[in-house]
Amino acid sequence: MKASAFSYARATSVGNALELLAAHGDGAKVLSGGQSLMPAMNLRLISPELIVDIGQLAELRGIAVKGGILRIGALTRHVDLQRSPDVATHAPLLTDAIAHVAHPAIRNRGTLGGSLAHADPASELPACMLALNATIIVSGPKGDSRIAAGAFFKGIYETDLSAQELLVAVELPVARDNSAHFFYEFARRHGDYAIAGVAAQAIVEDGIFKDLRLAYFAVADRPVLARAASGLVNIPVTPAVLSAASTALAAELDPQQDQQASAAMRRHLAKVLMVRCVAALLGRPDLDAGGLV
Ligand SMILES: Cc1cc2nc3c(=O)[nH]c(=O)nc-3n(C[C@H](O)[C@H](O)[C@H](O)COP(=O)(O)OP(=O)(O)OC[C@H]3O[C@@H](n4cnc5c(N)ncnc54)[C@H](O)[C@@H]3O)c2cc1C
Repeated sequence: MKASAFSYARATSVGNALELLAAHGDGAKVLSGGQSLMPAMNLRLISPELIVDIGQLAELRGIAVKGGILRIGALTRHVDLQRSPDVATHAPLLTDAIAHVAHPAIRNRGTLGGSLAHADPASELPACMLALNATIIVSGPKGDSRIAAGAFFKGIYETDLSAQELLVAVELPVARDNSAHFFYEFARRHGDYAIAGVAAQAIVEDGIFKDLRLAYFAVADRPVLARAASGLVNIPVTPAVLSAASTALAAELDPQQDQQASAAMRRHLAKVLMVRCVAALLGRPDLDAGGLV
């Protein structure tokens, strides 16, 4: 199938893109890498009247580190994130996660901003934003706003962005000393959307978590930061402590069912991921050997 007829405009600046979006309201859609938008249009899941192509806006590209903050432009492609020494040094969780986003052909065109604005609950990068405590920078008719990642994702393909706004960048605090990270997803094949996955960022001192952010994806209608992780912080993690946290996690999650997995299977996989993640982050294989799940 082919997309319905649509008009096309190439934005010449962020200001011009915002004018075009404001003039066409809900009938307009932003085009970045097109890796989610074009398939959705070709399947006629959406039929925008106007495509506003922001792909040439150099001001939305790039990766910079300043004052303890890693800023990544919305148009930065997945492949650029994957190859960036700054990302590898200051947000290595992202480097690990990107390898699981689709395939090279898609990573060559798909962008960070597109992935976050698309807000597929099975996507890797939105969960990374939660784990990394990112701030999402948005430009709109009333100027710029800064939104915590935890407040940005609202549901399946739903974010805090309005049709008149552009996601322009994300900002991440750079990894501190004693930072550790973990990324894993269960998927049928490498590059497929996950059945369940976790992106984790932690501070570990003397074998104790001082901070632990476990962001799950594909287990709810949006990425979720597990509240149960708090039961593992500032306490020696014994099998009993981990078992209690895993039970709390299962109670907290309300996964969806689809053709890939039942809700019960997703809940089980989330618990398995917690145990593997904690064992890996603490360097404690014993925790993953005790049949806790
Ligand atoms: C075969 C296949 C496999 C895939 N596998 C995965 C996977 O495993 N994991 C995964 O996460 N993704 C996967 N994807 C999806 C894809 O990688 C991302 O969703 C994509 O990279 C989004 O970025 P984009 O730049 O292509 O966005 P586009 O397709 O251009 O846009 C996506 C949506 O975001 C909006 N948008 C884009 N940029 C902005 C902006 N700056 N401000 C406001 N709104 C904006 C668009 O209007 C549109 O609604 C897959 C896609 C395909 C085709």
